[in-house]
Amino acid sequence: MARIFPVFIPHEGCPHDCVFCNQRRIAAPVSPQPGEVRERVCAAHAAGLADEVAFYGGSFTAIAPDRQEAFLEAVQGLDVSIRISTRPDCMDETVIARLLRYHVKTVELGAQSMDDDVLRRANRGHSAEDVRQASHLVKSAGISLILQAMAGLPGDKGTWRSTAEALSELKPDGARIYPVVVVRDTALFTMWEKGEYCPLTVSEGAEAAADMLEVFTAHGIPVIRIGLNPTEELSGGAAVAGAYHPALGEMARSRLFLRKILREIHGASLAGKNLTVRVPPGRTSQAVGISRENVRRLEAEGLARVCVIEDARLNGYDVQAWLE
Ligand code: SF4
Repeated sequence: MARIFPVFIPHEGCPHDCVFCNQRRIAAPVSPQPGEVRERVCAAHAAGLADEVAFYGGSFTAIAPDRQEAFLEAVQGLDVSIRISTRPDCMDETVIARLLRYHVKTVELGAQSMDDDVLRRANRGHSAEDVRQASHLVKSAGISLILQAMAGLPGDKGTWRSTAEALSELKPDGARIYPVVVVRDTALFTMWEKGEYCPLTVSEGAEAAADMLEVFTAHGIPVIRIGLNPTEELSGGAAVAGAYHPALGEMARSRLFLRKILREIHGASLAGKNLTVRVPPGRTSQAVGISRENVRRLEAEGLARVCVIEDARLNGYDVQAWLE
């Protein structure tokens, strides 16, 4: 897996603030200058800590072209690949030509939802169709595409599953899943304080993420991140409500395993029986659950014993279960 060296350019290029977003709290207070970027990336690469540099936290392709080029020029010839994140409505043939000229390998698009009403209420300023068109442009140029999606935005009453379905049709090379976190000093924070917005809880966020994870993996799309990266700022009080938990990804993966196990034994008589569950290599802890949550849940169904073993013939979130 590539070691990504993130360079945060908080809100650069953003035409306005989306209701949930405060990159200065989530990521970094200010942007570095292009010269500093080169120094930092060189040092990280020399220390074996960077195969890829990623410009995160803003709308890269909406920054003034000369500043985009200054950032991209700063990381040329360093033996690291280049990744940028941006908005779906800031992508056209001119932008693509620039990205190709500077050897950008990966574009992450903040899609967030494929429901136009949810996008409008989040003050995203783009439509689901913009996501489709931008994705098509990126993929047609041979640039790797990562789509970011959220669950639990205002007005999102379970549309995250259909968003994951619609995004999967665009055949991205990967996806990120972010159940909403209410961050201090955002419009969403104000709405939450006034009682106008009720976020998903951590548990609901894990379930929503499991829904999306199930859809993406069913389409063969790797999910490279679930939940905001924990930071001192967020853990220290900037994350005031919503699905903020350092282990949200593990929780979501465990929930997906539990669902699959329950489906396998659905309708069977469980009382006093032993259940053996086969899972792919390295997945035992997710199948067992955090603090053995899944095992305890299964034992509560009346099972005498639950045993999880790894099977190299299985992949992803495959599960085989039998009772005896
Ligand atoms: S979500 Fe993206 S586009 Fe919206 S304000 Fe944050 S960085 Fe800018």
